[in-house]
Amino acid sequence: MNKECNIRFVTLDACRYDSAVRANTPNLDFIGPLRKSETAGSFTYPAHHTFFIGNLPRIIEDNSDYLPGISQIWRSSEARGTAKSVLIPFEGSSIVDYYQKKEYNVHGFGGVGFFNTNNENNSLPQLFKNFHFLDSSAGLNPDQKLPRVENTLPLGNLDLIVETLDREPYFLFINSPETHIPYDVPTSKVNSKYTELISRLYDEQNKKVKYEAGNLPFTKEEIELLKANQIAALEWIDGKLGQLFEKLPSTYPTLTIVCADHGEEFGDNGRFGHAHVDESVMTVPIWVGYTE
Ligand SMILES: [Zn+2]
Repeated sequence: MNKECNIRFVTLDACRYDSAVRANTPNLDFIGPLRKSETAGSFTYPAHHTFFIGNLPRIIEDNSDYLPGISQIWRSSEARGTAKSVLIPFEGSSIVDYYQKKEYNVHGFGGVGFFNTNNENNSLPQLFKNFHFLDSSAGLNPDQKLPRVENTLPLGNLDLIVETLDREPYFLFINSPETHIPYDVPTSKVNSKYTELISRLYDEQNKKVKYEAGNLPFTKEEIELLKANQIAALEWIDGKLGQLFEKLPSTYPTLTIVCADHGEEFGDNGRFGHAHVDESVMTVPIWVGYTE
């Protein structure tokens, strides 16, 4: 494998592993097989800081290689020695820093509030010399964001992404907020009942009460609707990524990684949301592929 390659790294914010299993995702499946993995962070901030030092979600299947014969994609050259087969040993404080110093065409796009470039205390976008935050409704509660429209979503701005990646090799990072509460995409049906449901869910996510089984504050139908909307959001992302990958230049080999940063609990064990430890939060999907 050639270590000089384009990098396409996409994080599906809050996307559950079982949403990925249930969704129809031909473009993601074209990258490589869907793998079950475990993230090190229960919310956006720790998960992405961990990814950017090269530690991707750990595959928890019998064959834990990301690519055939490759058990770690990036590893800091400062880290202790390892018997693992590492694809790209890197120097510097993060993989973003490494590719920027190598003068790759590095651009980040996002995403959820932790990528808001208007908040000067946000350390994640500051890793990038070029970061494009596209959510003009940032700061609003999730129910107040409904319905989300294309120009507020990174993958609703494909032309902008393609224009910035006109030079190879590139490092493209996208944090996709569509699978995050309120889980809607421009093709979703959003009515006042759904807005009210999201408002109640957001309250529960903040309260973080652990309910007894059978005593959840949402009906089975409401929970199924939330899960179905996350699946629909992932399918919308899949379509957009298919269009994007076709448009990007590809004279270099390309390494593609798509994964969730963390999942989302919908009352599985009594709680709602993320930023707490539960199997539904820590288990995430990952697809990895390399094309010459
Ligand atoms: Zn997140």
